[in-house]
Amino acid sequence: MARYTDANCRLCRREGQKLFLKGERCYSPKCALERKSTPPGMHGQGRRKASDYGLQLREKQKAKRFYGLQESQFRNTFEKASRMKGKTGENLLIMLEMRMDNVVYRLGLASSRKEARQLVTHGHFTVNGRKVDIPSAQVEPGSVIKVKEKSTNSPKFKEIKDMEITVPAWLTVDPEKLEGKVMSQPTREEIDTPVAEHLIVELYSK
Ligand code: SF4
Repeated sequence: MARYTDANCRLCRREGQKLFLKGERCYSPKCALERKSTPPGMHGQGRRKASDYGLQLREKQKAKRFYGLQESQFRNTFEKASRMKGKTGENLLIMLEMRMDNVVYRLGLASSRKEARQLVTHGHFTVNGRKVDIPSAQVEPGSVIKVKEKSTNSPKFKEIKDMEITVPAWLTVDPEKLEGKVMSQPTREEIDTPVAEHLIVELYSK
């Protein structure tokens, strides 16, 4: 599958917002957005005011990049969200949050969504005791996500055991046991993604 391989920080500069794509670096003064906040490219500083379509497109790009999805994956998720009861924009964000890779990241078991995706693909986690290696898998409320016994001695997970991890209210984590639980689906208020989802709905409804 095609993957975006250019510098991740360019994506944040393009959106003018931190998308937290590089783990710890994003929280340090080394963050590229702290040093240079203009959009990338020759004409980065002189961009014109965006049209309605431009604003909707940027919002969709931002959400897609925040969660690290390709266009087709993002569009498919939107289509599923639009067939669910309730508000499509909220459903979309909830589905993105309930992805296996995002939950692993939110539990603090990976430093970025990109790393979470890699760790999931490499089969380091179980959900309710069964191996899950599909980053896009939807995790259900009540599910227990755990680092596989065999993987607990890797340096990556050993250092997590001593960490203090803060998680959103819809999750709980036990770093010592390298496991976390999804207590419920997140509400919109519990999702801190800096996205105006109604603009994405407007874009795809054209
Ligand atoms: Fe974005 Fe992180 Fe790069 Fe900062 S360090 S620009 S938040 S990817």
